[in-house]
Amino acid sequence: MGALAVREVSMRIGGRDLVRAVTFEVAPGEVLGLAGPNGAGKSTLLRTLYRVLRPTAGQVLLDGHDVWRMPGRWLARRLAAVLQDGGGDFGLSVHDVVSMGRTPHKRAFDGDSPADRAIVAEALERLDVADLAHAPFDRLSGGERQRVLIARALAQRPEVMVLDEPTNHLDLRHQLDALRLVRGLGITAVIALHDLNLAAAFCDRLCVMDGGAIVALGTPREVLTPELLRDVYRVDAEVGAHPRTGVPQVTLITEGDAP
Ligand code: ADP
Ligand code: MG
Repeated sequence: MGALAVREVSMRIGGRDLVRAVTFEVAPGEVLGLAGPNGAGKSTLLRTLYRVLRPTAGQVLLDGHDVWRMPGRWLARRLAAVLQDGGGDFGLSVHDVVSMGRTPHKRAFDGDSPADRAIVAEALERLDVADLAHAPFDRLSGGERQRVLIARALAQRPEVMVLDEPTNHLDLRHQLDALRLVRGLGITAVIALHDLNLAAAFCDRLCVMDGGAIVALGTPREVLTPELLRDVYRVDAEVGAHPRTGVPQVTLITEGDAP
């Protein structure tokens, strides 16, 4: 399972409509990319999915259950979030942070079972942070931190992952690895991404927001057009096809900019 439905979700803060009647569904196993310019409302919308912000109107349903009506633990067993620059977590080691992913699956005062330990070890390994297991989390580089937070989400073994710009701070190798990993889990995912070419390569569908509302929703091929890039991002671009995969590729027009 892991069917996510966002129904007419609006978020009004301080008299401003940050999210306006957003509606979409994500099928079990589907990867939805969330794009749009800075300030479009992507992070605010994602916060309503993992229950940091209660929508002013509308509902978020996971497998038909309103996430705001279910116990926190119910949600934490099913949905993992990777936030932007998340978790100060002062004093915790990388291993501690990743182990926290197991918390929703344990009873109070339970220690780590051998199965928990194996899951944490695997998550550390898959995110290429096993060497850092004993390092203090708050001393890591931005990219290392990001990978640790993805490892924590992985250790949570969720049905749905919500990721806010997870490739921020990551070098090219780790960007690819992170997106391949999420894609390869076969779980439902909603991922805010700035890199439209990566989004096109890894997402089944893209949802583009602007001014708090959805302005396009469809396959990368349907959504990524020169018109959308002009209207929403205010850039001139050509949209071609990846030479090997045929996936849409955005190339900014920079004629006249070269030295
Ligand atoms: P995005 O993630 O698409 O860049 P955000 O959802 O972070 O956009 O922000 C959308 C808009 O809402 C921005 O203009 C931002 O300044 C504003 N905003 C975000 N959080 C709050 C808040 N708690 N109070 C008031 N304004 C906010
Ligand atoms: Mg954001």
